[in-house]
Amino acid sequence: MVFAIVASHPIAHQQLTTAVPQVKDCSMTNLVANNQELSQACDNISQAVSTPFPVSSPTPNLNLTNLTHKERFLLTIKHQLLTIPQPGTFDYILLRAYGAAFVDEDPEVKLPQKVVFGNELETKEFQATLTLEKVKNTNDCYLQQSAAAALNRVRSQIPISLKSGYGASDCTRTFETNLRFWRKYANDKTLEKVREGKETAILGLVAPPGSSQHLWGLAVDLQLTNLAQKKALNENGWFQTVENDVPHWTYLGQPQEKLVEFGFQNRVVRGISYWLTPL
Ligand SMILES: [Zn+2]
Repeated sequence: MVFAIVASHPIAHQQLTTAVPQVKDCSMTNLVANNQELSQACDNISQAVSTPFPVSSPTPNLNLTNLTHKERFLLTIKHQLLTIPQPGTFDYILLRAYGAAFVDEDPEVKLPQKVVFGNELETKEFQATLTLEKVKNTNDCYLQQSAAAALNRVRSQIPISLKSGYGASDCTRTFETNLRFWRKYANDKTLEKVREGKETAILGLVAPPGSSQHLWGLAVDLQLTNLAQKKALNENGWFQTVENDVPHWTYLGQPQEKLVEFGFQNRVVRGISYWLTPL
């Protein structure tokens, strides 16, 4: 029942200096074999642990800083997804743009098992599994319970307006709303270019159909006016994770220090500090 032990202790719950569960993690999953980068990360780990440790050190202190940012990120999120997308694929492009939320470790938070829903039905099936809660003092803004609670905490400290103020489109969206927004700014040709990796700028403006973080109940569009609001959001697990999408905030449920451990890259673009996946 090694798998049960591993499953109840996903890598994200481990300190990065604890080697053994990660090694088990690597050996117990088919995902690793199917993904070159992940398998390289696991090779690095097994190489490191095969080096003998002093007898006096019962817990080997493995220096995982040897792993690249990308390897750390993929190791952190791999238990959330059925398959880790291969570089160059549409799914990988979407994981790079919107995959930040997969580091959320809160057992109450539900994540999809893939990066893009194929249609409205798939989206509805996932959304039916969510426990949504209304954000206080909004008309129609619903988020997953933990995300709503964190946002409520922030807004009890300091007022922050939703971007449009209408609620439903600022918060959890339907597949249809995601599609409508996409068609407002883009079309099938754009989608083809995104799939081919020839167009990325659009991803900071609108998400391709079925891929928005807003479908997961873990994103909100806000209108900030000062840095104290940003600080309060960051302190409560909310971060800007989609480059150039200024009003868009993602609930990661993690303190900022953890993001570095998970391999996130901090990039400041036009004065906005984004936490981007290292893919
Ligand atoms: Zn948004």
